[in-house]
Amino acid sequence: MLAVGDFISLALCTKLAGMTRQPIRIAVLNFAHETVTFLPNDTTRDDFIYEGSPARGEALLAWDARSYMGGFVKVAREHDGVELVGIESPLWPKTGTGSGWITEDAYEHFLGRQIAELKAGGKWDGVYLALHGAMGVRGVPKPEADIARRVRAVVGRDAFIAGTFDPHGNEDEEFLAAADMAFTVKYFPHYDSYLQGERAARMLIRAIRGDYKPATVTQKVPILAPSVAQWTGASPWMDLVQRALTWEAREPDLYVNVFFSFAFADVPDLGMTIQAMSNGKPDLARKAADDMAAWAWRRRKDLLGAAKVHLIAEGVTLAKQAIEKGATPVVLADHSDRSGSATWLLQEVIRQDLEGVLFATIADRKAIEAVKTKGLKAGDPFDMEVGGHADESAGQPVKVKGTIKGVMHGSGLHWVAVTFGRGNVVLLSEYLTQVMDPYGLKGFDIAEYKAFAIKSRVHFRRGFDDSGFAKTILLVEPEQPFLGTVRLDALPYKNVDLAKFYPWGEVSFP
Ligand SMILES: [Zn+2]
Repeated sequence: MLAVGDFISLALCTKLAGMTRQPIRIAVLNFAHETVTFLPNDTTRDDFIYEGSPARGEALLAWDARSYMGGFVKVAREHDGVELVGIESPLWPKTGTGSGWITEDAYEHFLGRQIAELKAGGKWDGVYLALHGAMGVRGVPKPEADIARRVRAVVGRDAFIAGTFDPHGNEDEEFLAAADMAFTVKYFPHYDSYLQGERAARMLIRAIRGDYKPATVTQKVPILAPSVAQWTGASPWMDLVQRALTWEAREPDLYVNVFFSFAFADVPDLGMTIQAMSNGKPDLARKAADDMAAWAWRRRKDLLGAAKVHLIAEGVTLAKQAIEKGATPVVLADHSDRSGSATWLLQEVIRQDLEGVLFATIADRKAIEAVKTKGLKAGDPFDMEVGGHADESAGQPVKVKGTIKGVMHGSGLHWVAVTFGRGNVVLLSEYLTQVMDPYGLKGFDIAEYKAFAIKSRVHFRRGFDDSGFAKTILLVEPEQPFLGTVRLDALPYKNVDLAKFYPWGEVSFP
């Protein structure tokens, strides 16, 4: 028979067993961007430098608590004897996704400092790389693989390197040739970024302690779909995710990643990619990767045709009809605007005289500067041209005559809201802004608006669709195949032969 004291000593023994494990040190690095390489404005060193960025130590570990980093840190700290060291890292640039090629100067500056800090930091058991996968750097064809190789050169073959990725990453076999593991978000919108961060921590620690031997396979699939098609809330993208989840559920210790790819980057590792990882069973990883690739290829036509995109004039007419029928709120999403300044949708809403439309947003730093310089505030008249200019895809500036509804300031950025026409509001931002949730729009009474004209492809579904908010959703793009178009064959690729991808050429697979 056991006495109370036995339970106490049993608990103590278990605790001591945990504590006698070798302490381990993990370096944590972040370097991420989704680069639209066709944009005219490069992403520079300055774009990564702002209040809070670069971040290091606890500030880096505390950053993005609901995403990859939050999940990684939470699980790593549930383990005894694990030390995390936040290496100085640039956070997401202040331009968001509204800037092009990262300059070699910016890349070498930040990565150079990270590598130097790793070298100076003594022995590392593991490295966590919080990446995206669609970083485009001038002169560096595959930046994430380059980062992994340079980290490996410092930490040696005995250390383990794990990366987390966005499903929009463009990757091939080179990353896992240098790193040991990758965990990629499955859903779009990216609901499981925290979960993938948690997994990365747990698996990295298991590998370091000898409990997991990563056997990985990378398989390219010659399919290239524009982002707007890739919503995982509907078939067949939902089924693609489900198939990966099924593999993971039925085979303990098997992990399956699907990179949908990011088409608006002129990089050599473009196109869909499958990765599979098993615990020392390369054949199992191969089998899962082959099955996923074959499934995607069988469903390629449906994968490409998953989104109905209207030309803007037609979309605005459909929005008007939906408003008349009371099928509101309506979302008009110009998925194609990659600068944030595009005015095509604004022009058309004015031309068709819609009412009660909230435009969020039109990017226009000059207009915001002018409002600040003149000291304008809520209630003042506003008569200015907004938007356009960025490049031909942004269209012409549009004259907006109305009243300032508010001038807002947050996270180092300014915002100006202007009321015009019949209950319409345009919200000006400094950079491209994807509004993902209507209730994230501070200072607006959301119930006042019949329609929301936004710049987003799929992320808006988080708050506008998956929440049950919108009754009508219309995806639109301009007549001309500008840089964010679904007509990828109109884009000026130099480093990619588009004809090697379905549906842009005659392609056979496998
Ligand atoms: Zn993404």
